[in-house]
Amino acid sequence: MSRVLVIGCGGVAQVAIQKIAMVSEVFEEMMIASRTISKCDAVKAKIEATNSKTKVTTATVDADNVEELTALIKDYAPDLVLNVALPYQDLTIMDACLAAGVHYVDTANYEPEDTEDPEWRAIYEKRCKDLGFSAYFDYSWQWAYQKKFEDAGLTALLGTGFDPGVTSVFVAYAKKHYFDTIDTIDILDCNGGDHGYAFATNFNPEINLREVSAPGSYMENGKWIEIPAMSIHRTYNFEGVGEKDMYLLHHEEIEALGRNLPEVKRIRFFMTFGQSYLDHMRCLEDVGMLSTEPINFNGQEIVPIQFLTALLPDPASLGPRTKGKTNIGCIFTGKKDGVEKKLYIYNVCDHQECYKEVGSQAISYTTGVPAMIGTLLVANGTWRKPGVFTTDEFDPDPYMEALNKYGLPWKVEENPVLVD
Ligand code: NDP
Repeated sequence: MSRVLVIGCGGVAQVAIQKIAMVSEVFEEMMIASRTISKCDAVKAKIEATNSKTKVTTATVDADNVEELTALIKDYAPDLVLNVALPYQDLTIMDACLAAGVHYVDTANYEPEDTEDPEWRAIYEKRCKDLGFSAYFDYSWQWAYQKKFEDAGLTALLGTGFDPGVTSVFVAYAKKHYFDTIDTIDILDCNGGDHGYAFATNFNPEINLREVSAPGSYMENGKWIEIPAMSIHRTYNFEGVGEKDMYLLHHEEIEALGRNLPEVKRIRFFMTFGQSYLDHMRCLEDVGMLSTEPINFNGQEIVPIQFLTALLPDPASLGPRTKGKTNIGCIFTGKKDGVEKKLYIYNVCDHQECYKEVGSQAISYTTGVPAMIGTLLVANGTWRKPGVFTTDEFDPDPYMEALNKYGLPWKVEENPVLVD
């Protein structure tokens, strides 16, 4: 029996929270804490209207403030904390977990809110030069907590969403059951859903737009190769969706997989985008709306991308409008018993089915369900070891089983079409 503290109550959190409440045989008690308590209370009421036995309480917390967080964690005394706030809060929440002596789980690696902060910038610029990729997010900040978590006997499970998260579990599963050596991995993230808006993002707009407007990069023979944003384009025919244009992006699991599976010669990540999305994004970028640098407007300081976020539809509100399917998975090439082999492991998820079940679209669902599964495996001790780990570093089998059980069934195709 476990007691979990969930931090954040946005699109992803609302799915994770409802799923946690469906596993009340493990999660006896849950606290939902976020900036806006009314959102937490609304989800609590939704859960109480079901027959969940999980006892839910709510609280307000500023997760940027380590002292406030530590006090809350010590007071509620959970077994673990699920961070589904923003990547900006990863380090403060990890610090508070260490101070209070509880396990930590999240869905996205650390990035700073203020990318102009000179102290952070100096470290970032050195990393760009040393490693060769310029994304604002990377694992170094959280990997630096390895010894602290190890010494405290606590587990930090990083990035248990779909991508990263499930995609890295697919890699571990392919390696365990299908390959002696993996040569290439292509991670394909296809969203065939249509929400009817000219432009909206499926998860937090600020994080999403930062990610997709950045240069793309992939790993080849242990080295990063960086390319201009959206400059590598392919088409692929996805089951359940059809043919889609996809573009090579930098993505965080490439970094962890590259470190943990050095045998893999090439790791790439592709995401599908429609022309309208790309046109809007380019235009917003050209006029400076994606900038994170504060500007003065009529005597008030505003951050352009935060102002844009306030204008765009809340991703949590897209559920009723979004129709179509997602298809996310990994294509592998490699060898088994000396024979060349290829394999595709993927999940197809239907936006409307997700909405019927938990009132959310499939992007929040495909992230929130794995967030619950990672939390569950740490909570019940299946995935618990002292230190800081990504999802490829544990036995994939219980996670794969849980995906089938909790709403994200996967398929294995033995002879897929490869991406050239
Ligand atoms: P939302 O913007 O919908 O929700 C974020 C939540 O965090 C909000 O409830 C917000 O509170 C809360 N929050 C933000 N700052 C603070 C703070 N300082 N203190 C307390 N609470 C805070 O984001 P999403 O649900 O779309 O995304 C959540 C996480 O999931 C992000 O880290 C994102 O990167 C990650 N993600 C991971 C994916 C994966 O596959 N691995 C895919 C998609 C997302 P309030 O509502 O009051 O503003």
